[in-house]
This record gives sequence, structure tokens and C-alpha cells, in this order.
Amino acid sequence: MGLIHLLPPHEALKIAAGEVIERPAHVLKELLENSLDAGATTIDIFIEDFGKCLIRVADNGSGMSAEDAEFCFVSHATSKLHHLDDLEHVASYGFRGEALASIAAISKVTLTTKLQSAAADDLGIAIEYSGVEVQKRSQASCGCGTDISVRDLFFNTPVRKKFLKRDETEWNALQTILHAVCLSHPGVHFKLYRDGMCVLNAPGVAHERERALALWDSDVAKNLLPMHPLADDAKISINGSISSPQIWRYGRHYINFFVNGRWVRNSELSKALLKGYAGVLPDKCFPAAAVFITLDRSQVDVNVHPKKEEVRFVQPGVVQAMLTSAVKKTLEQRITQALAPMPSRFTPIVTAASMSAPPLHDAMPYFAQVRYQSAPVVQNQVNVAMPIVHDQAKIEQSTEKRLIIGQLFATYIVVEKDDAVVIIDQHAAHERVIYEKIKKNYDIQHGIDLLFPELITLDADMIGEMLKHKDFFTRQGIAFDVIGDEKIVVRSAPPQLRGDSLASFIQDVAVFIGEHATLQHDLFAQTFNEYIHAQISCKSAIKAGDVLSHEQMVKLLDDLEAVDNRFICVHGRPTMWCIEKNEFEKKFRRT
Ligand code: ADP
Ligand code: MG
Repeated sequence: MGLIHLLPPHEALKIAAGEVIERPAHVLKELLENSLDAGATTIDIFIEDFGKCLIRVADNGSGMSAEDAEFCFVSHATSKLHHLDDLEHVASYGFRGEALASIAAISKVTLTTKLQSAAADDLGIAIEYSGVEVQKRSQASCGCGTDISVRDLFFNTPVRKKFLKRDETEWNALQTILHAVCLSHPGVHFKLYRDGMCVLNAPGVAHERERALALWDSDVAKNLLPMHPLADDAKISINGSISSPQIWRYGRHYINFFVNGRWVRNSELSKALLKGYAGVLPDKCFPAAAVFITLDRSQVDVNVHPKKEEVRFVQPGVVQAMLTSAVKKTLEQRITQALAPMPSRFTPIVTAASMSAPPLHDAMPYFAQVRYQSAPVVQNQVNVAMPIVHDQAKIEQSTEKRLIIGQLFATYIVVEKDDAVVIIDQHAAHERVIYEKIKKNYDIQHGIDLLFPELITLDADMIGEMLKHKDFFTRQGIAFDVIGDEKIVVRSAPPQLRGDSLASFIQDVAVFIGEHATLQHDLFAQTFNEYIHAQISCKSAIKAGDVLSHEQMVKLLDDLEAVDNRFICVHGRPTMWCIEKNEFEKKFRRT
């Protein structure tokens, strides 16, 4: 006789179950999803001893017939999918018909169910399952819906039981699942009983922000921003809520993604979200988020992972870029509010005296003066004898109404606006302004022939890399030729790049190309363009330490208000810091 034999079916099932159920949280997830698939509007959850002793989910969904109640434990028994071709179209959470079979293989399950369509005095059915055997079936007087208790998880797979993590870890995992389900189904009434005590009662609400109030710390939940909704032609849409940048957590446990309503883990989505927060959150700090991504079902594969926790996008880059930009836009809107026109109590009164005030000198420090000079700069400087402007509407329209307090350390511009002080990093802000301009005028980025072509020394292999991408340089208005093994001569360059900044720019770009040469072509082109734009912006922006005239500050702030992404500089640092008035009040204990 040979050594090879087939495993008995119940042993095989126990092994298969391990793919779907590794911990109590997975049981909870499967049961909750089944309840939601069954159309439940009220779901009660009972957990005992961190799920090791009991996980019970009772719903008011469709319920099952006596026949289905028995059949649902059979592997691949599902009411949701008939052919594999249907997979693209499944809207339900379940479709594999594996969950109940897996759970029943490694625990003791009791199912009580009655069809929603049954008459009030009809009886339901109760089935007890242990291992893979039906232990008992009986009629039960119960309400409509389904009530499943899972006891003694892993009682017959002791090794797996050993792999359970610390109790708190398992509890956190249970909570993560419950919170995700609660956030994606704000209309459903959830109750959670932990060891007999009701620890969560979340009646149905209209949207996830209200739901978050029941689930999250109140400082997080109260500071959620509705996401700037984004949708593109490819039928991808993104919405949801994210935390404002003043609030953060030291872990990722408040970050939730839902793809077509399904809670997923996806580290790329996480990265894209954090990229949107780049520069506005301290290091190792994380936002709270409930982000809903909706896209055509043909654009996403949910079947990658037995637990259906992971998804694969057909165009991951597109989804990630959209997410980042939705986050940035949301955070920008927040700051724009802070920069919105000042209330009229601050509207400077335009007097003939202020209009004829001497023009400000470029190198003058403004800290002391600007208070008196905050009247609108006269549009028509030539005609000093213009009649006094009394037209309030005109003043309201003027962008001069924010009160520029002055320059701080020759590095920051201090602005009073509404009930906040906005401190703007002049270099970061200017960099952003230039960057957005270059980006918009991409095609008309002209190089100008240099009077004295610039000789730049580079490593031979760097020159090789640069030659490969010569067309990019040409498009950026940079023309160069190689002369000798380690030298190039730059013959034309954009006007912003001259002298020192040109040489260091070319050297930086050469290093960048060396580091990124293996990127996929399109992505490389995009990254390269972004980088080259960022470099041009950085090298040509005003620097920290440059003393600015009032007009220069006004111009910079106006320009900044007009560009996208004004919140963050091109290297991901913040361009501004907004300190609300109540922060001052707190500090000086004025409350
Ligand atoms: P799947 O959800 O992939 O179909 P499951 O093993 O989770 O597989 O469930 C098997 C079947 O049992 C489902 O297709 C559904 O018909 C039925 N079922 C499970 N849970 C419930 C419930 N709470 N209410 C109604 N029907 C249920
Ligand atoms: Mg299921």
C-alpha cells in the first residue's frame, strides 16, 4: 500500500477553515456580513471572554427556511453566487459559501432562524452543530431573523487556539471589525454586549460622521471633515470623512477604507491617504478616516484573499492619486476657511491720508509698521488725488482685507484672519505658487539660451542616465550637450534657473534619475516631471531670511490663495500654520 491517502473530509475542512477563520474577529466579520446580506436593520452582538467563549450575532434579516438552515453549513453552500462569471457582479458580502461551513468545523454552533415571510405564530428552527456534525435539530419559538452563537472557538484545533494573541489584541481586532461595519452601515442599529454588559448602543443615523460619535473618542469624532467629493470619468468616486489635521492618533486603528461598501485592508491606500496629510501631521501620527471608494466592479478584484479583506485594483495608481488629491483638497478647504475674507470689523477704513502714504520701501521691516499700512493698496497708484473710497462693497471684494501683521524672523508672514492667526512660511508658500504655475504652463516652459553656457561636472554614469531622458529636459527648456566623459554643457535653461541654482539643480536631477531609472515608464515620467517642477520651484523661490516688502507679501498671499495645494509645499512641508484665537484664550486662561 502506498503512503499517500486522502484526508478525511472533516480534517480537510478544518484546514480550509484556517484560511478564513484565524481569530474571533474573523467569525464576527463573517456573521455580521451575513446579517447585512440578509437585509438586517437591527443587529445585536454578544461577546464573551474576548470571543473565545462566545460570539453571537442576532439579526432581524430575511431568516432561513428549515431546509436552508441545515444546508448553509455545507461547504460552498451559498444563496448568493451561481456561476463564477457572476463574480464581477456580486453586490453581497458573501459569495463563497465557506464561512458557516468553516466556522462550524472548528467550533460549536447554534443557529436559530425563522423566515421573515413566516406567519407570527409559525415556529422557527434551531440547529446545533459541533465539529461537522448536526447534534440536534428542533423547532423553536423565535422572532423572524437569524441568531447564530459560536462557542468554544478552536476547541478541536488546539494548535490554532495557541496562536491567538493577547486578549486585548483580540478584543481590538473584534472592535476594529465592528467599527468598520458600523461606519459603513450607519443606518443599521447595532448593540454590543460584552460579557453580558451593553457597551455600545448605536441606533441608525444618516451618515458615518454621526456614527463616529458613537464609536470614536469624541475629540476625533467631533473634528471630522466631510471629504471633498471626487469622481472621475473612469467612474471612480471617493467620499467619506477624515480627521482635521489638529487631531491625530498614534496608530492606524482609526483608518478605514471601504471599496464598494466592503471594508478592506490595503497598505497602498493607507499610503495614499497619508500622502494627502504629508507635512500637516507630525511624524508617526495618523489621522482618523472613513473613506468610501466606489468604482465599477470590473475595476476591482475582491476575491484575492480568502477573508475578502484585500482588494486588487485594475488601476491602483489612479485610485491612489485620486485619494491623495481628495484628502489634500479637503484639508485645503479647511485652511481656506481660515483665510476667507475678514469680518467687516477689521475692514480698514480708506482715508485720503492712507492713500497718499508714501510707497513702502522694499527693504523696510514691517513688523512695526504694517498695522498702520493695512489699508487697501491703491489700485491706481498714479492718481493719488482719487476721491475717498466709501463703497463698502468694493472694500469687501478687495483681497487686502486680511490684516498682515508683518514678517517674523524674515522667514514667516504673520496674518490675522477671522478668529485666527495664520503664519505662513514664505519660502514654502512661494515654492508652491511657482510649482503650480509651472505645472499649469507645462507646455510653455521655455528655456532661454544662456549667454555663457554653463559647464557642469557629473559622474559618467549619471551622464548616461541623463542622456536617456534628454527629451524630458528639452521639454523643461533645458538643452545640454555632453563634452568629455564627466562634463556636460548646458546651453539653455528656464529663466528661474541661473548660476549656482542651475548647477545644483542639474546635479540633483541626475541623482534623482539614477535612483528612479527602474520605474515603470509612465510613472517615471510623472514622477520626474513633478520632481523637476519641484526643483525649479525650490531653487527659484524666495528664501528664508529674505526681507519682504508689504507689496511682496500681499502678492505672495494673493498668489497663494489662488493655487491648488496651497496648504503644503512641494516637499510635503506645511506652508502655513493656523492658530485659532481660542488657543490664545486657553494659553492666557481667558476662558
Ligand atoms: P456566503 O455568505 O458566502 O453565501 P456563508 O457560509 O456565510 O456563505 O452563508 C451561507 C448561506 O447561509 C448564505 O448564502 C445565506 O443564504 C445563508 N445565511 C447565512 N447567514 C444568514 C443570516 N444571518 N440570515 C439569512 N441567511 C443567512
Ligand atoms: Mg457569508
